[in-house]
Amino acid sequence: MANYKATGLILKTRDFGESDRIVTILDPDLGKLEAVARGARRTRSRLGGPCQPFSHNQFLLWQGRSLDGIIQCEVLDSFAPLRDDLFKLAAASYIAELVDEVVREKDPSPEVFGLTLGTFRWLAEVDAAPGPVTHVLRAFEVRLLTLVGLGPSLDSCATCGVPVESWADQRAGQAGTLAFSAAAGGIVCPACRAAPVQDGEGADP
Ligand SMILES: [Zn+2]
Repeated sequence: MANYKATGLILKTRDFGESDRIVTILDPDLGKLEAVARGARRTRSRLGGPCQPFSHNQFLLWQGRSLDGIIQCEVLDSFAPLRDDLFKLAAASYIAELVDEVVREKDPSPEVFGLTLGTFRWLAEVDAAPGPVTHVLRAFEVRLLTLVGLGPSLDSCATCGVPVESWADQRAGQAGTLAFSAAAGGIVCPACRAAPVQDGEGADP
């Protein structure tokens, strides 16, 4: 069967057989794929070092009937800081787990790939302290949820659905007034904002 190339991030690895490792790779164009790194757990394996979680690698793979395999692996960025610090390791593991959840096998999502790569770079650079690491995580979560269509509504009213562009016609004098409502799940238009609120949950901060 044909060999093929991939360039992607390793989301996770797990032991397989006596000395192999199964690697989950996120490639921007191929999507998520699994491949076996034969002998990767042997001390002198050429695949062992590069086939670690979060590493950004170029791969040459063989296509198998049920499972593909890694022939060669070249590290573009090992993202070692994400494995060397406990806060960052926990954060990167959480990011990889979320991405693994939302991206399906062989269903490419270049946007999610780009977000994950960018977040790994950001996480590698921030101070290894809970504050900065948490900040990276929150920003990642909002962007990921937006990419998969679960983010806050920011281009139309979260309550009535009127697009932001037409808000100017709605109420002269109040045009451009933005109010964010966590309860409504996004921004709300002046009319909805002015409407009586229920249960004491208002759009106004
Ligand atoms: Zn509205």
